Amino acid sequence: MLTEMLLPLAWVATLTAFIFSLLLYLKALMAPASALAPGGNSGNPVYDFFLGRELNPRFGSFDCKYFCELRPGLIGWVLINLALLVQEAELRGSPSLAMWLVNGFQLLYVGDALWHEEAVLTTMDITHDGFGFMLAFGDLAWVPFTYSLQAQFLLYHPQPLELPTASVICLVNAVGYYIFRGANSQKNTFRKNPSDPSVAGLETISTATGRQLLVSGWWGMVRHPNYLGDLIMALAWSLPCGVSHLLPYFYLLYFTALLVHREARDEQQCLQKYGLAWREYCRRVPYRIVPYIY
Ligand code: NDP
Repeated sequence: MLTEMLLPLAWVATLTAFIFSLLLYLKALMAPASALAPGGNSGNPVYDFFLGRELNPRFGSFDCKYFCELRPGLIGWVLINLALLVQEAELRGSPSLAMWLVNGFQLLYVGDALWHEEAVLTTMDITHDGFGFMLAFGDLAWVPFTYSLQAQFLLYHPQPLELPTASVICLVNAVGYYIFRGANSQKNTFRKNPSDPSVAGLETISTATGRQLLVSGWWGMVRHPNYLGDLIMALAWSLPCGVSHLLPYFYLLYFTALLVHREARDEQQCLQKYGLAWREYCRRVPYRIVPYIY
């Protein structure tokens, strides 16, 4: 049974991430200074091992971070979810509506990430953070085994879900996805080609670096509209599990903390990069993630 194997598998994934990061740290000792990440290059071995000394470690044309960000963890998460759905069908005759929703929403999220895989190239993980234990553990162990907690919960705690409630939850997920995809695609298109017809009409602020900042469209609503969409989806993934237990809301709570911290880190980096232009952007778009609230 997969459910009995989840804990041992999670241990093996953690051990693999540890050994892998150790090899990456040793490899990074021989890397040229130009290949090192700004954050993981402190000289303190434990700190650098954790944060990642090299920015984008590669073996030949194989990019370790790009691969790990998208393939093993995300696909593993979907496979665990599917196995739990099949196990529920064996146990109760058919998968519950709640299990279908959780599987469907999370399959959409992973399918979207793989479909738009080149968009990961403009994210902070790729452009700024080194590849060390933090990211390797996150990609290989944390994502598949904790992001599947809702499906794991549903296997042991079946939830009655009526069609009207399910429809409202689908609507919440659709709104979150619309904002998330719209914001990420808009920024990605703009960064690749600011003259693309879909973004050419948007208002921008010029910066001293020559790059521009969007100040209308999704990025004129709040400073991180993609995080807002992601959080709305996170809520929709928990709602099918009912409100009797905190466990299915673990992802929503953890993810809120992660994104608030991530947003603060990104603000710091953007302030350093863009200086006065960033301050002007913050003046024009005062809210960080949630309009009129935060
Ligand atoms: P973003 O994709 O939001 O990238 C931030 C960068 O975007 C900034 O550093 C800046 O870089 C650029 N930027 C910021 N404001 C503007 C603007 N107004 N106009 C143009 N460019 C701007 O960051 P993340 O990498 O954190 O997130 C990517 C996606 O991944 C998000 O949807 C997030 O929710 C998701 N995510 C999901 C996780 C999960 O576990 N499910 C974990 C982490 C993230 P520059 O100017 O240099 O281009």
